[in-house]
Amino acid sequence: MRDDTPRTDCDADRPQRGDATDGDDAATDGGATVGASGDGASASRSDPGSVGDRADDAVDGVSDRRGDPVLELDGVIKRYGSETAVSGMELTVHEGELVTLLGPSGCGKTTTLRMIAGLETPTDGTIAVGGDVVAGHGAVRPPEERDVGLVFQEFALFPHLTVAENVAFGLDDPDSAAADSRVAELLELVGLDDYGDRSVTDLSGGQRQRVALARSLAPEPDVLLLDEPFSNLDVSLRVRMREEVKRILDEAGVTAVSVTHDQEEALSISDRVAVINDGHVEQVGAPGEVFEHPTSRFVASFLGQASFLPARVGERDIETSVGSYDRDLLNGLGDGYVGSHVDVLVRPDDLRATPVPAGDADGEVIRRQYTGPSFVYHVKLNDGTVLRCLHNHTEEFDVGEPVAVTLVADHALAWYPAQ
Ligand code: ATP
Repeated sequence: MRDDTPRTDCDADRPQRGDATDGDDAATDGGATVGASGDGASASRSDPGSVGDRADDAVDGVSDRRGDPVLELDGVIKRYGSETAVSGMELTVHEGELVTLLGPSGCGKTTTLRMIAGLETPTDGTIAVGGDVVAGHGAVRPPEERDVGLVFQEFALFPHLTVAENVAFGLDDPDSAAADSRVAELLELVGLDDYGDRSVTDLSGGQRQRVALARSLAPEPDVLLLDEPFSNLDVSLRVRMREEVKRILDEAGVTAVSVTHDQEEALSISDRVAVINDGHVEQVGAPGEVFEHPTSRFVASFLGQASFLPARVGERDIETSVGSYDRDLLNGLGDGYVGSHVDVLVRPDDLRATPVPAGDADGEVIRRQYTGPSFVYHVKLNDGTVLRCLHNHTEEFDVGEPVAVTLVADHALAWYPAQ
């Protein structure tokens, strides 16, 4: 599971993987460049009809903005003995985009990243970088022969080298004038122009991360891989650094794949988010697309707080236990569904609770979650369904209070055939 413990910059001063004595370890395992690129994004629609035809758009995200495929994973499988870590990964990443692999612990994100880097060998399937197959068809290229840069969460900088020397490390001829100029360019890009001669041990966590990023960008990799790049930073720095890293990646025009458990991070900085479930891509698309139009209950539940409101579809309306609503409220619901039962995805901001006399209530408050600016009230309806309603912090209801619930969403809602 993700370690959410707030960390300080002091943590970054602890010995890091690849720091210690053997610089080569950092270069190959923790480090700068591991050398390799694709379009294979696919969404499985475990709940067909859930979002109408929009799910097909979600397969590729917003297609007209994308450049050429740079990284392609096709049917990639990784087994460790009887354990299947990755079970048929299909993903294409296009030139200049940042795609984030997001999913629960153990779903295969890191294994996927390591296979792209060449640190693990797929059991089956192919991985191509820049059109060249680097794994598959019976051949595997070692990390150093792939045009792939890697930034680990530990940063893996060499403590005995200066900032500039760390950045120059991955270049073919680090002592050349061309290397000096490339290092200067990168230090400017990451906002460390005046830090070239400093020891990396004198830097803050955020500054170390910039050095690690500059070092990985130095050889101009086709693809940059970021393994939970913000998890070693304290919470406030994490938010600032993710914006900064996104700016740097955009400015460098690099194609990047990041791994995280943190949905806010994934939604805020990615061009596309690939939600991983049990070793495969469950849905990939622009952040707003996957959040607002999840093609499966898994994706709906993994991203944000999700409740499912049972509804019966009528000619014009849908009937629910909290009232009737216009059928158009459901995204892409065809006439073929008249008379059938569906479950409507409702997020806390789609619902409002109002205290009423017990006889008029749809249910009662069973839990209140205080988040500072707001309350999320968990309401158990008389039919047993539990919904979550978002309220301003000034609207205080008690647990046990009878309430009426209203659907206040002013946007089309995703839905799934009733289970
Ligand atoms: P987390 O978010 O917790 O880091 P993850 O999504 O990155 O998880 P992976 O580290 O890719 O998940 O692991 C996927 C599955 O493969 C897990 O069940 C894990 O136990 C298993 N696994 C990973 N590496 C190995 C290994 N070297 N040997 C055996 N099983 C492994």
